[in-house]
Amino acid sequence: MKEEEQRGGFVALAGAPNVGKSTLLNRMLGTTLSIATPKPQTTRAPVTGVLTRGRTQIAFTDTPGIHRPRVALQERMVAEARRGVAGADVVCWVVAADRGTGAIDRKEARQLPGRPLLTVINKIDLVPRERLLPLMAELAELFDGAECMPVSALCGDGLEGLLDRVSELLPAGPWPFPADTLTDRDERFLVAETIREQLLRQLHEEVPYRTAVKIESFEERPNGAYIEADVYTDSDSTKAIIIGSGGARIKEIGKAARRAAQEITGRRSIYLDLRVRVKKDWQNDRRFLDELET
Ligand code: GDP
Ligand code: MG
Repeated sequence: MKEEEQRGGFVALAGAPNVGKSTLLNRMLGTTLSIATPKPQTTRAPVTGVLTRGRTQIAFTDTPGIHRPRVALQERMVAEARRGVAGADVVCWVVAADRGTGAIDRKEARQLPGRPLLTVINKIDLVPRERLLPLMAELAELFDGAECMPVSALCGDGLEGLLDRVSELLPAGPWPFPADTLTDRDERFLVAETIREQLLRQLHEEVPYRTAVKIESFEERPNGAYIEADVYTDSDSTKAIIIGSGGARIKEIGKAARRAAQEITGRRSIYLDLRVRVKKDWQNDRRFLDELET
């Protein structure tokens, strides 16, 4: 295809935590690229998923939710989210229909850079139709008349319309990635994320927030990829919870993560070796945070 016929660019999915940004990305790509769980602050680092449709390439950047940071880890998450927004050609600011707008939306609305912006009301499956109109009016006022797209990432409602609209807003020019690209992230990142997803799903209250994952080695062996990963936590008591009685919990986490890792990497066989380690106050250890993939 000739370059002058192509259009494409980066579309940031941004908003408060838990509004469904990662679920939206996955649904639009048709694959589970970015981990999404019922817990807020699941996404810690941006991940870009690439969708090539006809002559248009849309590189969606899923970003961590914007919130008020309390530890260095969260400061980074918010800074990464802002970086994703700053690098985008189009910004989709996402809110959840059942929760409406909050302090974050009001604050960010004033600070978002002046590029094409759409507001997206997600989770419309959770509210009756008549609740959407006042929310749309409120968003139009907050975001200076920006166009609003109501969708449901869970049911798929409105997603074709959203894809069409962002395609129209992207500039003409060469595609950001080769045609067959799925993501900008490597396998180490994707595997570490599948482990974090299971930590979030299988552990409760504050325990998963006190964990981080580091891939220690990634080796190709004749019978599949052999991956050693360390799960870090900040105390002996949370370490014991993560390991579980007789190692049962970490075994389940490893089993489910391994399955998801095989699926997202397209590998037939992955062997995952998980170890749990204690590192006090890692959430504020900038050097440690620099070494994390996610
Ligand atoms: P993020 O923090 O904004 O990335 O949100 P996630 O994508 O992790 O989703 C947070 C929660 O909202 C998960 O439990 C999702 O299953 C749920 N969710 C996302 N989209 C929808 C939707 O359209 N409808 C409903 N009912 N739930 C949704
Ligand atoms: Mg997310």
